[in-house]
Formats: sequence, structure tokens, C-alpha cells
Amino acid sequence: MNERVRVIGGGLAGCEAALQLASRGFRVDLYEMRPNKMTPAHRDGHLAQLVCSNSFKAMGKTSAHGLLKQELTMLGSFLLESAREAAVPAGDSLTVNRDLFSESVERKIADAPNITLHHEEVTSLEGDCPTLVAAGPLASDALTDDIFKRLGSERLHFFDAIAPVVETDSIDFDHAFYMNRWEKGETADFINCPLDKETYAEFVRKLTEAEGVEPRPYEKHELFEGCLPVEELARRGYETLRHGPMRPIGLGLGNNGHLWYAVIQLRAENKQKTLYNMVGFQTRLKWGTQKEIFTMVPALRNAKFARLGCMHRNTFIESPKFLDATLRLRPKLPCAQGIPPTWFAGQITGSEGYTEAVATGWYAAWNMASTILHGHADPLPDGSCIGALMNRLVEENEDFQPMNFNFGLLPHTEGLKMKKSNKKEFLANEAEQCVREWIATRKF
Ligand SMILES: Cc1cc2nc3c(=O)[nH]c(=O)nc-3n(C[C@H](O)[C@H](O)[C@H](O)COP(=O)(O)OP(=O)(O)OC[C@H]3O[C@@H](n4cnc5c(N)ncnc54)[C@H](O)[C@@H]3O)c2cc1C
Repeated sequence: MNERVRVIGGGLAGCEAALQLASRGFRVDLYEMRPNKMTPAHRDGHLAQLVCSNSFKAMGKTSAHGLLKQELTMLGSFLLESAREAAVPAGDSLTVNRDLFSESVERKIADAPNITLHHEEVTSLEGDCPTLVAAGPLASDALTDDIFKRLGSERLHFFDAIAPVVETDSIDFDHAFYMNRWEKGETADFINCPLDKETYAEFVRKLTEAEGVEPRPYEKHELFEGCLPVEELARRGYETLRHGPMRPIGLGLGNNGHLWYAVIQLRAENKQKTLYNMVGFQTRLKWGTQKEIFTMVPALRNAKFARLGCMHRNTFIESPKFLDATLRLRPKLPCAQGIPPTWFAGQITGSEGYTEAVATGWYAAWNMASTILHGHADPLPDGSCIGALMNRLVEENEDFQPMNFNFGLLPHTEGLKMKKSNKKEFLANEAEQCVREWIATRKF
């Protein structure tokens, strides 16, 4: 086959995609701008660099990341194979020697006769062959500008902080209640978690004194006044949070017949309402500190966090508006005219995390290959981890924000009654079976 494709970005998603496309016979031009042009976070010019932690997280299949990794292994992910080769002992997590990991990926790329690696920046989506964009959360300014101009008023987000997300099952409803502020709307969409005066005072004190993650140099000037971290608000004064994200007004009266003293509101994060976002609680506190402080809230005493808050520059497109279920830029949109068929993968799609970047790289490449070779895409079923993650990325969402894969995204059987620990195993088995059946009817 002589079909040529272009992959922009030699990070986790781009390398997985390039290797998948090459293994299906495509001639791949892989563009990585480093070391000629560096990002603010990468260290050197090596491919598939892990910018921060060196862990792909847990391995057991009853952990969300373990299950996702198992699925990727079944699907023949090249980068997971490299991660296993470069693994260092770390209990139940897949943690790697990052240099060995990069080396292993680079070897695979170098050994693939039909991949040509160009250490060049790509500045535009224009081109002469189908393209997969995997330029990451730190995509170069020129490319970011080009994408933004094409997408028109729907800006790429320059994102400062994100709030934690809680698994609904772990909320203590003896200390929480459903209600919208001023009872607006037909259904009660918010879960409210009240704090009494003493707990609030201690909560604010801890937030004020808590240790945050030191901002990287490029983040220092990027704090947006309209979206300040919660600890920053707490430092502005004892009452600030009670007049901001913890405002009790419009939420009824407490047991003593007076207004609640302070209330944290949680808003559903997904359609199934298995996950709730802590509204206004974007934070850059260290993860251990977040858990310690947020579990002071009575309703969150046993909270399981599907995502903790964090802060870094993070460029992503509004995938629900622009991408179809196979991560392709919808061909009929005006922004898709005048450029070759284009797919997106990695963090730029609004997926979050190393394993997710690999997963979206695999998925976009699979569908790109299927579309070019057979004239139609071939999505994974909703019941698989990757299918569920893709649903989250492209389903309608006015407040679209990045997210890791987690159990809350998998389709839940309605009315299923079983212990929480059994439920995860059940969901994991269902997802595994679903992918097994899908693979059985395809040629790998
Ligand atoms: C500072 C920071 C820390 C993070 N820490 C973690 C963590 O600890 N754990 C975790 O799971 N996730 C973390 N993430 C989130 C995410 O998982 C990683 O960013 C992950 O590397 C994303 O994979 P990717 O392939 O989308 O992007 P990347 O791995 O960043 O790859 C994108 C590649 O594209 C290249 N590129 C950019 N623009 C161009 C261009 N115009 N032309 C050619 N090449 C270009 C870049 O140099 C880069 O190599 C972090 C993100 C950031 C920004």
C-alpha cells in the first residue's frame, strides 16, 4: 500500500497512532517539533516523554486504569508494551523508567520501515494527506493559532485549574441533599453538602495554611481572576468562600431553622450522574492535601475522587462541538473544508492522563485506517472502556472539561443491586467481554 498519512506530535498519542497506522501498511510522516522547538514542560527531544509522574497508574482490572490498560493490551497497544518493558517495581501500578520507556518507543518507530520521523514544527492543518493531530496540551502557538482560527469563535481553552470530581456512590447522603438554588428548574440537579460554623472555620483555616503545588514559570501569570483556586479565595478572607462557591443562600434552612452556614454544591459530571463535580473548587493544592481537607466535609467523609483538582496550562478543543464519535473533525463543518480529513488524539481532545492519551491515539488511528481503507469508521462499542471514554469526549456538554477514564463512565445496568466492590468487578467483566466479542469479529 502506498497511502500516506501525517501525524503531528511525537508524544504518547502520536507515537501510538503512528505505530498503529504503520502496522496497517500506511506510510507515516511523523512530525515532532522538539528538540528544535521545545514546549515549556518537556525536557529534551526524545519521543513519548512523560512530562511529570512516571506512572501509568494501577494495573488490577478492578481499578479503572487497570481495566483500560488491559483493554489496550488486548487491542495491541505498542506503547503499553513499551511501558511493560520499561517497568520498575511499584506495587500494583505500572510505573516506568521514563528514559527506558522513551528509548523503547523510539526503537519501535525507528524499526518501522514505513515511518519517517521529521523533527519539525507543523504550523497549519493544511496539507496533502489525511492528518492526525496529537500535539498535546502544550501544542505550539503557531499550530494552536491555526486550529483556533479554523474553529472560529469556539476558542481553544487555555485552562488554568480544574475542580475535583467525586463518585456519587461515595457521597454520604445522611449529610447531603438534592436541591437547585432557589429551587429553579424541573429536576433537582445539584447535591448540596452543608458545613456548620465550626467545620467551616476549620476548613477555611486548613485551606489557608495548605501547601500548594509550586507553579511552573509559564503558569505564574496565567491565573484568571474569574476562576481562582479555592485556597486563593480562602486566603482573601474568612467570609470570601461563604460569599462565593460556598454560598448558602437559596438552599433552604438547616435543622435549626436557620440558613445553612456554608454549602458546597456538586453538579453532575456525566449523564448517568455517577460522578459529581465540586462546583467552584478548582485548586492547585497537593493531591494528598486535597483529600485531607475535602473529606472534612461531612457528606464527603468517605468520598472517592474520580479526579482531583490540578492546574497547568492545558489546551484542548471543545470535542463535543467539533469531533464525531471516532475523533474525526466532522467533515461537513465549515472548519473542515480546505484541509485533508483530520483526526484528533491525546490530551488535545480533552482526555486526561497518560493511558488515556495512548488510548485515544490507538482509537483515532484505528478509525482513520478503517475510514481510508474501507470507506467507513469502526468505533468500539459503548460498553468498552475506550468506547465509554469516547462517549464522554463527544457527548453534548456545555461545560466540557478534561477527564480521566473512570468507572463512572461505563454504562451502568439500571437497578443493579450489589456491594460496591462486586459492582466494579461486574463492570470490569462486562467491559472485558464486550471488547473480546468485538475483537473476535475483526482482523488484528
Ligand atoms: C505539565 C503537565 C503535567 C502532566 N502530568 C501528568 C501526569 O503526571 N500524569 C498523567 O497521567 N498525565 C499528566 N499530564 C496530562 C497528559 O497525560 C500528558 O500531557 C500527556 O503527555 C498527553 O499526551 P499527548 O500525546 O496528548 O501529548 P504530549 O505527550 O505532550 O505529546 C505532544 C507532542 O506534540 C509535540 N508538538 C506540539 N506542537 C507541535 C507542532 N506544532 N508540531 C510538531 N510537534 C508538536 C510536542 O513537542 C509533544 O512531544 C500532564 C500534562 C501537563 C501539561
